[in-house]
Amino acid sequence: MIEEQLVGRGIQDPATLQAMRLVPRHLFVEDAMRARAYGDHPLPIGAGQTISQPFIVAFMTEALKLHEDARVLEIGTGSGYQAAVLSRMCRRIYTIERIDSLLSKARKLFDRLHYHNIVSRIDDGTEGWPSEAPFDGIIVTAAGPKIPEPLIEQLADPGIMVIPVGDHYTQELKLINKKNGNISVKTIELVRFVDLIGSHGW
Ligand code: SAM
Repeated sequence: MIEEQLVGRGIQDPATLQAMRLVPRHLFVEDAMRARAYGDHPLPIGAGQTISQPFIVAFMTEALKLHEDARVLEIGTGSGYQAAVLSRMCRRIYTIERIDSLLSKARKLFDRLHYHNIVSRIDDGTEGWPSEAPFDGIIVTAAGPKIPEPLIEQLADPGIMVIPVGDHYTQELKLINKKNGNISVKTIELVRFVDLIGSHGW
């Protein structure tokens, strides 16, 4: 997975590669899917949701340009894999999921693997986590029709956010950079994610 799917396709950040070497991806998928856990594709995780393809996890993680002391907000905990990767790279991860059954499963894994720097809650992540803002990085792992305004407000300056934006079928992965009070937005990839459902989503 690391050499062929990530390094082979241009992922270079040593911290991202090391984190993805360390986190046991097979534990984040259902038992019946274990043999396919390191394959070059997303997989179902129950409740109609998915764990993203390894390359997309790496690409979005690298784009955040994180440092060891960073605090990161993730919207869409899902299996917990993306949060686990981030937790190996920075100080604290705040992750929000809207489906109870997924979050309780992910929390059990965080405990089992001793990933104690991940805090999580059930909520509408499109509202962000105002009491813990600002965040050095924000990663949204579900796709909505626009960039949620609360997330832009809760991004630190300097700070970077990655979020897929588009319709229900295809989206552009947007990289939002906040620096010296200015906000720039650029498209860095074409992607396909499940819906971001909430007051600032679908
Ligand atoms: N990051 C996940 C992982 O590593 O497994 C994959 C996330 S999955 C592609 C998208 C997740 O976003 C789903 O679990 C879905 O329930 C969640 N979601 C959708 N809208 C949300 C919202 N407004 N707030 C929080 N979670 C949301």
